Amino acid sequence: MRVSNLEKHPEINANLFDFSSENELRTIIQNAEELIPRGSGCFFEDNALNFNVISTLRFNKILAFNEESGIITCESGVKFSEILNIFVAKGWMLPVIPEVRSITVGEAIAADIYGRNHYKKGSFSNHLISCDVMLGDGSIVTCSKESKPELFWATCGGMGLTGVILRAKFQLLKVETPYIYQESIKARNLEDLFDIFEYSKDFDYSVAWIDCLSKGKNLGRGIVGRVRHATKDDLKNSSLNHKKQYDLPFIFPGLLSQKTYNSLYFHSQLKKKKKFIIPYNTFFYTFDKVDNINKADRKDECIQYQIAFPKELGYAGLKELLDIVNSSNQQPFGSTLIFFGKQDGLLSFPMEGYSLSINFPVNSDLFFLLHELDKLVLRYEGRLNLAKDARMTREVFEKSYPNSEIFKTLKHKFDSNNKFQSLQSKRIGI
Ligand SMILES: Cc1cc2nc3c(=O)[nH]c(=O)nc-3n(C[C@H](O)[C@H](O)[C@H](O)COP(=O)(O)OP(=O)(O)OC[C@H]3O[C@@H](n4cnc5c(N)ncnc54)[C@H](O)[C@@H]3O)c2cc1C
Repeated sequence: MRVSNLEKHPEINANLFDFSSENELRTIIQNAEELIPRGSGCFFEDNALNFNVISTLRFNKILAFNEESGIITCESGVKFSEILNIFVAKGWMLPVIPEVRSITVGEAIAADIYGRNHYKKGSFSNHLISCDVMLGDGSIVTCSKESKPELFWATCGGMGLTGVILRAKFQLLKVETPYIYQESIKARNLEDLFDIFEYSKDFDYSVAWIDCLSKGKNLGRGIVGRVRHATKDDLKNSSLNHKKQYDLPFIFPGLLSQKTYNSLYFHSQLKKKKKFIIPYNTFFYTFDKVDNINKADRKDECIQYQIAFPKELGYAGLKELLDIVNSSNQQPFGSTLIFFGKQDGLLSFPMEGYSLSINFPVNSDLFFLLHELDKLVLRYEGRLNLAKDARMTREVFEKSYPNSEIFKTLKHKFDSNNKFQSLQSKRIGI
């Protein structure tokens, strides 16, 4: 059958297997020469694509939950949306929430996902207590930071290349209400935006929508959303605007250029700063919604290009990157900037600094531009996100992931027959 990622870049012919028991999975692994596990497939990348793909979606039971401690144990095919639907009402939230709600727990570990609170909470591995992994020989190994740490750290962020994650035990975050207190602040340019990030560090989460097509003194202008979990007192405070939806400019998709859309969106917030209370999912999935409106009429493929720059070089790197994008003929949309704290891990994407995600419609000139941007990313000691990549070269990977050799050694130790491979792992030489 044809198997692809969210944006159909790429799409290949593959055998798609699934399983609901350990024995079924063991048989699939033993019979296949090479294969790769897959979560929801809501991805931009080719790290869950190969000619044999194992879907984990039928292995999806919640096994235990401790109401006192907030520790949950579940199978790897459980989706984040399912956990939120059940546990937010009980006062427990996921500690790390990415912008896409249907990702699975297995993927959250395999890509060591981050959220808009990375500078406070780190990525998913920071909250993972232990996980069970089925290796290429069919054995099941439980690993944690204390027990079998090499397997643990090679599996967190290891893109499914050590084995199939079966079960995970991790910590949820206690919250007083399912609401979010948000302040939304306009930033005139990149410098302003960096300042706002800097003095917003006490907030639980921060994210900026950034206008990648603004130039000159407006270069890098945007709107920062800084946020904390709302308390019961916040909900009683009538001076706070209670909103069901995030403010959206009323724009007919397809009738406007991306530049005009960005400008209208930026100016749709009239005040420099706004405060309001919103349901948690409105915040976590806002930019998804904002950009899907303008994206609704796009039939073409798109690529999300995500980079991280170290803190000291972040401003200069982003400024140069925006200048290059601006002088190209590309029409990027839906760009967000977030702030990262320090991160352990062999292939985890975050590094202390800044991360920009830009969506580009795919066209023949795009890859020349991305090639130029890759060179810039290396010059500024940054890296691309493996979890959103379908084109990184081996050279870029090896230069930007300093622990890549350690990872390869461990991958071959735990998967000596090299059963677990993806299109991405072959391309980048793992
Ligand atoms: C709109 C959008 C927004 C995003 N926002 C964020 C964000 O805020 N933060 C962030 O960190 N990421 C983000 N991502 C990236 C996202 O985490 C990845 O695209 C992710 O791959 C999607 O999850 P999935 O369940 O579809 O996993 P898949 O794409 O199916 O799998 C991803 C990787 O995990 C491996 N894997 C999956 N399940 C298992 C398992 N059980 N055992 C071993 N390996 C496994 C696969 O082999 C593959 O290497 C975003 C992606 C999109 C499309």
